[in-house]
Amino acid sequence: MYENTVSGFKVDKRDTAKLYLKIEGDDIETEEEERANGVLKNIAFKLEIANTIHIYEYGKISKLNLEGLKKVKYRYYDNNSDVHDLGTFEISDAQKWKNGSKYKKTGWKKITSTDNDGSSINRYYEYDSGKIKLIKFKLPISYQKKDLKIKLNDNPSREYINPEAYACLIGAIADNDFPDLTLNGFTSADGTSAPSVTHYNGIAGDFRYLRKDKKVQTLHINTSPNDLDVVRQDKFIDALMKFGWGSFLSYDITLNGSSFRLEHTEHKPHHHHHLHLNKEDFKPNYK
Ligand SMILES: [Zn+2]
Repeated sequence: MYENTVSGFKVDKRDTAKLYLKIEGDDIETEEEERANGVLKNIAFKLEIANTIHIYEYGKISKLNLEGLKKVKYRYYDNNSDVHDLGTFEISDAQKWKNGSKYKKTGWKKITSTDNDGSSINRYYEYDSGKIKLIKFKLPISYQKKDLKIKLNDNPSREYINPEAYACLIGAIADNDFPDLTLNGFTSADGTSAPSVTHYNGIAGDFRYLRKDKKVQTLHINTSPNDLDVVRQDKFIDALMKFGWGSFLSYDITLNGSSFRLEHTEHKPHHHHHLHLNKEDFKPNYK
């Protein structure tokens, strides 16, 4: 069992523990000492072990020291002053990675995965020093209370994410009540991300494009650009930016003979069926 030590006493790790003080000293009159200790006896000094990341509707999250924590809780504050408890997650430690490659690299970790067409592929990840913290998504997410709706559909193999990135993602999803938002995955349990070579460490993730018909179904924006709900897609990107992501990868869209690109995105091959959230520009706004 994980234990903390407070003034020589072992305290089981839990949300709160109580600490009592007692005065002892030669210079204190016995009667005063008794009176003071009588008062102190009735005061419990709460020793709070913070374990919650608070998510605020206006785009901020609280900073939490995750060191030594086994679990993290999430609490969302909406703009009607309602508070929503959004679950408790086990925290796991994983290797930190420095880089990923599609090409064989000596000394890097090799992961064998399958490509879209089912063929076997190898990916390589360069070791970084230290560990990272990850939590596992509980998919699908379907939360509704008063005015708040949070829904996220399930399609992934890479179901692990950095605990702060999760707080930001939930904040961004809560900004809109899209019923069809679908995750394509963040990171694997060991912190790598095959078949992706960029999703390591739990910050970068993929989502399907949002369709006008709101079906939970893949959309290829190169071949079916008319089905893309540009208004909702822009709203989702704006919400992600509000909570800390800064740039995205997508694919140029040709509609009615003219070409355009979703806001804050760059064009990249293979991104015609998903929006990619870059890890490089991710920066949560702390309250
Ligand atoms: Zn991606």
